[in-house]
Amino acid sequence: MKKVRYIRNLDQVSQLTDAERTALAKVENKFKFRANDYYLGLINWDDPNDPIRRIIVPHTGELKEFGELDASNEEANYVAPGTQHKYTSTALLLCNEICGGYCRFCFRKRLFMDGNDEASNDLTEGINYIKSHPEINNVLLTGGDPFLLSTRRLESIIRPLREIDHIGVIRIGTKMAAFNPFRITQDDELLEMLSQYSTPNKRIYIMNHFNVPQELTPQAFEALDLLNRAGTVTLNQTPILRGINDSPAVLSKLMNLLNDAGVHPYYFFQCRPTAGNEIYELPIVESYMALIKAKKNVSGLAKRARMVMSHDSGKIEIVGLTDDHIYMKYHRARFSSDDERFMIYHRDDKAFWFDDLVPADDSEYTETA
Ligand code: SF4
Repeated sequence: MKKVRYIRNLDQVSQLTDAERTALAKVENKFKFRANDYYLGLINWDDPNDPIRRIIVPHTGELKEFGELDASNEEANYVAPGTQHKYTSTALLLCNEICGGYCRFCFRKRLFMDGNDEASNDLTEGINYIKSHPEINNVLLTGGDPFLLSTRRLESIIRPLREIDHIGVIRIGTKMAAFNPFRITQDDELLEMLSQYSTPNKRIYIMNHFNVPQELTPQAFEALDLLNRAGTVTLNQTPILRGINDSPAVLSKLMNLLNDAGVHPYYFFQCRPTAGNEIYELPIVESYMALIKAKKNVSGLAKRARMVMSHDSGKIEIVGLTDDHIYMKYHRARFSSDDERFMIYHRDDKAFWFDDLVPADDSEYTETA
């Protein structure tokens, strides 16, 4: 059985030079590093700008003061240990605080820091909360990566959720098909468990996180195939990241490969202004244009993907752009008064986040309920 070797220290990354390790020590102290030999093996070490390297290996640019650790104010969403409830119909269970690797741009990197207790080992209170809130009809298991839990532990969370009548879709947010596909391909019990609880009328959705085409290895394709055959619905979501996947060619290749594998590209995120993330950030207009150009080379299936900003006030979809304006709409809203609200803001090619944008004059501003 193939087992990956987890690596938690840059000293264990033999491909880095001593000088590189010394230069990165400060970064490693600030934002934790974690990888494994399989994922590091995808890097072309001759290329300092290799996209997998940029995803997983620390970069001195992370030391630049920028952004907030909790850029979308998730702190405001907790209703029980490890349990967030922001949008009426959706609850989040943060099952653990560990991933198959740590993406350098992670919007939840605070979870990996000592002293953070947002994720919980005991979700009983959260599951009871969901039980007593019939307006919640779907639950997202997240973290961290729920597939880092043992299959038995994961089942102990899914089983009680499946017993709640008003819960239909259960989503699992995971990057394991990219970081360590063997977690999926070599655990028959996991696949059987998913198959058991992804029923014909209540499916489990696997929210994958592939950032670049290089992650779609034969092993990753096998993992996705097994997830599809287990009766789960597989989707993908990724931020658009400077120097990693910000070219239309890379994005369209990613979308096409995912579609070929039966995985639907779902969200493309504007990279959140998270602490240390300046080097990964693109202005909203640049991200949007990269995606629009990429969509010229994909089928209608991939064109369904939306570009959104996960803002404190809700999930804001960028729906259009003209020379003067940027058009947006609340896809999900924290407050019902914002539900489906359509917004016209002045185009600003330097704006990185919703808060940087300025609404158009009242005379130009349209709103629909
Ligand atoms: S897989 Fe997701 S939660 Fe885990 S480090 Fe990457 S972005 Fe963060």
